Amino acid sequence: MKHNNYRIPFDGSFKLEKSPTGPANDIPSDKKLKKLLAEANDKLYKLQRCLYAHNRHAVLLVFQAMDAAGKDSTIRHVMRGVNPAGCQVFAFKQPSKEELEHDFLWRSTTRLPERGRIGIFNRSYYEETLVVRVHPEYLSSQNLPGDVDLKTIWHKRFQSIREHESHLASNGTKIIKFWLNVSKEEQKQRFLQRIDNPEKNWKFSKTDVKERGHWNEYMSAYQEMLNETSRANAPWFAIPADNKPYARLMVANTIVEAIESLDCKYPEALEENRVHFDGMKQQLLLED
Ligand code: ATP
Ligand code: MG
Repeated sequence: MKHNNYRIPFDGSFKLEKSPTGPANDIPSDKKLKKLLAEANDKLYKLQRCLYAHNRHAVLLVFQAMDAAGKDSTIRHVMRGVNPAGCQVFAFKQPSKEELEHDFLWRSTTRLPERGRIGIFNRSYYEETLVVRVHPEYLSSQNLPGDVDLKTIWHKRFQSIREHESHLASNGTKIIKFWLNVSKEEQKQRFLQRIDNPEKNWKFSKTDVKERGHWNEYMSAYQEMLNETSRANAPWFAIPADNKPYARLMVANTIVEAIESLDCKYPEALEENRVHFDGMKQQLLLED
């Protein structure tokens, strides 16, 4: 049950069809998984406090997945308990007119987390190599200069993304990326629940079913994107997403380990302040 097993190698050898959508057979009961998640939530709460006080690193968590893979609920359950002031979530949908007037990294750059904060991207600039690759007609609204060469544009985008992430990493942003790997069958079941359960109706959109029709094209776009952009300074994790409690725990444990590796420390009081501590303490205690 090691989350590290899900890290996508950095050498381009990742094969999507070998990547599991469900957990191994010997996993604990749902009750135990939830208990373990609560423990991870508690660790994350403490780590985030220290990350904030230390104020040297930012943490960027990127979530990508097919519809109904559980991005929203994973973010909700994993971040439960973390101080909302130290955590920012942004969902990236179809770009606005203003956003289309800029290069494809611009809109997310303005939402990057500050030092001491955890920033979460629910979808991201990776859509530019996924939905746009499956629907290259979207490129025509992007006002790109010159002729667009569909043979080279995706590789240029991968390169831009690698350079961008490398720059962020070397300037203090810890980047962790999650691909929630849901099976086509499980997606169907979740869409059916969205139709059958009135409280979930609002989540159902007929375009989701239309996109499902492009499943294989999405999978090949995902496989290439994951291989081209999983690097030591910004690794991807392929999390099996058919079992939600298991997926949430794997994501939480991955984040805990990543923030622990930053080895944040609470800053020590400066000597020039510390010399006043005893006097201030006496003054406070003597107040009536
Ligand atoms: P939900 O789980 O609630 O359905 P969602 O993330 O799917 O959440 P939607 O509003 O349903 O949100 O869909 C957002 C849509 O925006 C997705 O289909 C996504 O592919 C699309 N999108 C995101 N970024 C881009 C982009 N750069 N260019 C074109 N489409 C994009
Ligand atoms: Mg959707």
